[in-house]
Amino acid sequence: MFILSSIVGVKLLITSIKKRSVILRCFSISIFIFSIKTVYISNTFSYNNFSIKLISAFLTYMVFLIIIIGCVVEFNLLYVKSNVLNKELRKFYNLAHFNSHTYIFICDKDLNISYMNNKAKNYFKCDISSKELKESLLKINDVRDNIDDIIKTLERDGVWRGILRSNENKSIVDCFIQSMYLDESAGTEDILVSYVDITDRINLEAELNSHKINDIRKSEFISTLSHELKTPLNIFYSTIQLLEEIKSVNEEEFSKVYDKYSNTLKINSKRMLRLVNNIVDTTRIDSGAFNAEFGNYEIISLVEDIVLSTVSFAEYKNIKVEFDTNVEEHYIKCDPNMIEKIVLNLLSNAIKYSKNNGYIKINLILESDIIRFIVSDNGIGIDEKIKGKIFDRFSRGDNSLNRLNEGSGVGLSIVKSMIDIHNGNVTVESVLGKGSTFEVQLPNIKIEDELEEIYEYNRDKTVLELSDIY
Ligand code: ADP
Repeated sequence: MFILSSIVGVKLLITSIKKRSVILRCFSISIFIFSIKTVYISNTFSYNNFSIKLISAFLTYMVFLIIIIGCVVEFNLLYVKSNVLNKELRKFYNLAHFNSHTYIFICDKDLNISYMNNKAKNYFKCDISSKELKESLLKINDVRDNIDDIIKTLERDGVWRGILRSNENKSIVDCFIQSMYLDESAGTEDILVSYVDITDRINLEAELNSHKINDIRKSEFISTLSHELKTPLNIFYSTIQLLEEIKSVNEEEFSKVYDKYSNTLKINSKRMLRLVNNIVDTTRIDSGAFNAEFGNYEIISLVEDIVLSTVSFAEYKNIKVEFDTNVEEHYIKCDPNMIEKIVLNLLSNAIKYSKNNGYIKINLILESDIIRFIVSDNGIGIDEKIKGKIFDRFSRGDNSLNRLNEGSGVGLSIVKSMIDIHNGNVTVESVLGKGSTFEVQLPNIKIEDELEEIYEYNRDKTVLELSDIY
């Protein structure tokens, strides 16, 4: 008995040291005391003495006392440990649940939500695992379109990371998804979804980028502008020099040379004036001081007059100009000065970017809600790469200084601003090398209780606006 209990005691002692268990240590000590007691009793069995009984009872009490002390210490240690663990758990829980940076939720493959942190709850404003939440997740087009891919990637790699966009509220999120067994005893895999909203960052980056592009365009514009100003200024300067030289020699010769160059001087003055006008318009648009003077004007004759005034300019390049309309007379709410600029700009471009012997067709089509003004040419066309940018400020197809056509790249941006002021729309269709079609749509509306007027078109404006065609 002594040997058996000693062996059990030693084993328990070794295990208690390994496991650092107080209770096991107490048990092993108790077993030792118990084995000492058995030896003691077996050796004093023949003596019926009070002190022997007392010692035996004392040893028994000792055994129980040590076990009780062991239990108390062990429970106390466990209590302290679980308290520390609880504190750590709460920290992690708070970290996830009250995280103000990251949206976190846990769901299964069918998007049944089992947990949402506070941020996600506040955002979706519905209860965990509610049907609405699943529906609102699937409403996000990027989630709907990518869900199968995400699940496949999760099955293969265990993680998925990507950018998801919502068309509805225009938000962009950086999303990290991981599949894991959060509760191993349940045996089902959970999907942990965490994401941060990066809409502001992306928008800021896009804004910065557009500022950078604008800066590049501005520098290009300044170099174009310098070129545009230098050409006429050089002409003025060299003509003056020539005239001065001749004047000192022969007055008669002077007037002959003056007559020869006066037209070039006029054209170049007009080109400079047009350029400066465009720059002034651009700054007025930027400062918001570009206001329309609306009235009810007869649009058909106004556009037709402008078109007819450009025919002689198109003839320089042997270009045919055709005008067609489905209505003879019609009044709409418009600013005739702006209409002039819009029509002249589109026609000037059509002539400028057309080859010799080309054609330009102009159609004015009245529909119930809108009036469509279409300018088609069979000119050089617009490269697909810059087509989307031609209505942007300072955007030119050919930025080289030895380009074929003059132009500052502000004309179409002014056209677009003026059409916007009319609540209209402008689009372009073009095939490089084949030609371009610009379509302006203006609302077919009138100002109530206001007179109908006919605007007298002044041909000088055409001469000015088409001054860069030569
Ligand atoms: P620009 O003063 O350079 O003509 P615009 O703003 O009027 O400036 O036009 C911007 C660019 O759009 C032009 O540089 C040209 O590349 C392109 N573009 C405009 N109209 C036409 C057209 N009818 N055919 C071909 N390209 C065109």
